Amino acid sequence: MIILVINCGSSSIKYQLLDMKGDEEYSLLAKGNLEKIALPDSKLTHKPSGRDSIVINQSVPDHNVGMKLVMETLVSKEYGVLKSFDDIDAVGHRIVQGADFFSGSALVDKDVLSKIEYCSDFAPLHNPAHLLGIKAVSEVLPSVPQCVTFDTAFHQTMEPYAYMYALPYKYYEQYRVRRYGAHGTSHQYVSQRGAKLAGLDLADSRIITCHIGNGSSVTAIRNGKCVDTSMGFTPLEGMIMGTRCGIIDANIVPYIMKKEGLSPDEMTDLMNKKSGFLGISGKTSDMRDICDLAAAGDEKAEIVKKKVTFDIAKLVGGYIAEMNGVDLIVFTAGIAENNPWLRNDVCAQLSYMGVRIDQEANASARRDEAIISAPDSTVKVAMIPTNEELVIARDTMRVVLSK
Ligand code: AMP
Repeated sequence: MIILVINCGSSSIKYQLLDMKGDEEYSLLAKGNLEKIALPDSKLTHKPSGRDSIVINQSVPDHNVGMKLVMETLVSKEYGVLKSFDDIDAVGHRIVQGADFFSGSALVDKDVLSKIEYCSDFAPLHNPAHLLGIKAVSEVLPSVPQCVTFDTAFHQTMEPYAYMYALPYKYYEQYRVRRYGAHGTSHQYVSQRGAKLAGLDLADSRIITCHIGNGSSVTAIRNGKCVDTSMGFTPLEGMIMGTRCGIIDANIVPYIMKKEGLSPDEMTDLMNKKSGFLGISGKTSDMRDICDLAAAGDEKAEIVKKKVTFDIAKLVGGYIAEMNGVDLIVFTAGIAENNPWLRNDVCAQLSYMGVRIDQEANASARRDEAIISAPDSTVKVAMIPTNEELVIARDTMRVVLSK
């Protein structure tokens, strides 16, 4: 079954084309990223598997034109990987916010579309873009089934005491204000892969997954089900991130708004796009630059590095208490996959309970899944590269076949 996985942002379309023969048997045919839609310098970077990437510089005024360009590239004689559009059996979309409407993936229909639209209020930068992507696919591939997979779905198993905010209950009833979490497909994937690698029975396990990238979240998973996660009503809650502030005293919000004369939208922008690594360092939201700056003696960059491990350790420690123990800690996503010092520093905070890192295994774990704890460690620790697209492709295959 050939499945096109789409991750539509407000100005980008990321895609992967997978040939799914089964849950474990699949091959990646091509992947790519169309950036800067509606801007003067739009470009598509397309990588057919086993061949070099190509870059197409072409004006792309909207998502419909963008989706056509992606499809034409996939069937192109020169660098395509398909004979015709008819070869695509289904399309799976990543959707950031499904609130409490969705605890699993769903086939796109009118009702599903209206719920995704309703959830746009909670994810104004993402859900409207996802809807544009679904509409654009409907125009180019009108008879191909489309499936949606939600970043929030995996977290729907949280108990009310974990997802409720202690605000007046009517705001939960009237406006659905509660914690939803995010990165669910990643936490689900790496916990399953990690359990296999560590020889654990997922149905009888306590796992903490640390997805540390430009956006970061930590999740507690008991017996394969999410019991708590650090992101909340929106991805702003939790730990420090590239440009997000993470958890702060809520009274800071009206205080800064009054002092600076900011509107709600401006304050939202400040907390989501101008804070985090960027806010503290004043220079960059990228961990590679933060590391270079810290190595050159920049004190603010050093605070950022320390705060990242401090925040992760605080969350991991809390989740160990919530689950009364932990069997496996998994690190994933851009920062945690590529920075052995971070994995080492977080685990050093847990040495009191017998967590030990195998320094050699940790230093060399980069691209491939690896156990990085020492044989005598009381808790297994793993690095697992995330693969959200594969989860979306598997779910799409399952949902489409079951219909
Ligand atoms: P993600 O959002 O998962 O793509 O992660 C993006 C973050 O990962 C950025 O802060 C990058 O600096 C960091 N990152 C990606 N590759 C590397 C690398 N090779 N070394 C250090 N950090 C990296």
